Amino acid sequence: MTDGSTPPRDVVVVGGGVAGLSAAVFTARQGLDTLVVDGGASILRRNAHLENFPGFPLGVNARRLLDLLGEQAEAAGADRLDARVTRVAAIDSGDADSGGDGAVPSDGARFAVATDGDDRIRTRYVVAATKNEVGYLDGVDGVGIIERGKAYVDVDERGRTGVDGLYAAGRLAEKPHQAAVCAGHGAEVAVTLLEDDDAPFYHDWVTPEGYFTDRGREVPPGCEEIGADERREREAASLDATRERFAEPHPDPQETHPSLEE
Ligand SMILES: Cc1cc2nc3c(=O)[nH]c(=O)nc-3n(C[C@H](O)[C@H](O)[C@H](O)COP(=O)(O)OP(=O)(O)OC[C@H]3O[C@@H](n4cnc5c(N)ncnc54)[C@H](O)[C@@H]3O)c2cc1C
Repeated sequence: MTDGSTPPRDVVVVGGGVAGLSAAVFTARQGLDTLVVDGGASILRRNAHLENFPGFPLGVNARRLLDLLGEQAEAAGADRLDARVTRVAAIDSGDADSGGDGAVPSDGARFAVATDGDDRIRTRYVVAATKNEVGYLDGVDGVGIIERGKAYVDVDERGRTGVDGLYAAGRLAEKPHQAAVCAGHGAEVAVTLLEDDDAPFYHDWVTPEGYFTDRGREVPPGCEEIGADERREREAASLDATRERFAEPHPDPQETHPSLEE
């Protein structure tokens, strides 16, 4: 992984549940170098059959949905790391663990992310999406933690924590306890990050050829016009992939609440 001598990541997403993976799809699709670090325990793995996620009239296996979201993040260009984040430190804080000396480095790295696998990753942005886990944020001054039975991170209406470059998404940002809501919030937080970054970004749309250009408009940044052949190819590829992914029941068992484990 990265250390002080390699360029920083643009985005480290902490937590690869529905919120974190959805955020990564959007930041990676716009070309930001995105890494998702996940401890592998999305609470959605405990679901018996997911029946309220948009697009699946008869429901979907929740383990399958998580696999597909992970695959989609990778297809968009994101990397994934199986590890637990133990600490996020602001580099300009002078924090010894972060190597900070009180100034933001010229490469723009704002945070140092440490994992239980001894990774040390520098990054410009962090999206925290860890449901109710907040301990690893101790190294960042100014993060508001809300204790209400469980811990949440205080954010504005777009997922900003008030610390430049640090966002929170999904349940951690006090969003309601539904997978679709948390996925949507992950996407919204990513778009907010792109806007704050001044990334050339419009809507992340794929449109028919001529949709913009036939009206004398440039194709906006973050949009793509595709012709009929390309559209057919992409649909054929998506049909093949969908048939394969849904050909068999998912092999993983539904997980149970930790208190019920032997
Ligand atoms: C039994 C059960 C059934 C449910 N059924 C439904 C349902 O039918 N429909 C519905 O809409 N919702 C359902 N939910 C709720 C839904 O699962 C959650 O609302 C949703 O998963 C929250 O998304 P999230 O991304 O915020 O959190 P999660 O999906 O829990 O993702 C958080 C991720 O963060 C990771 N993480 C935590 N700490 C760290 C760390 N330090 N470093 C790295 N990674 C870390 C975890 O490993 C996890 O993968 C159910 C929940 C349960 C418990």
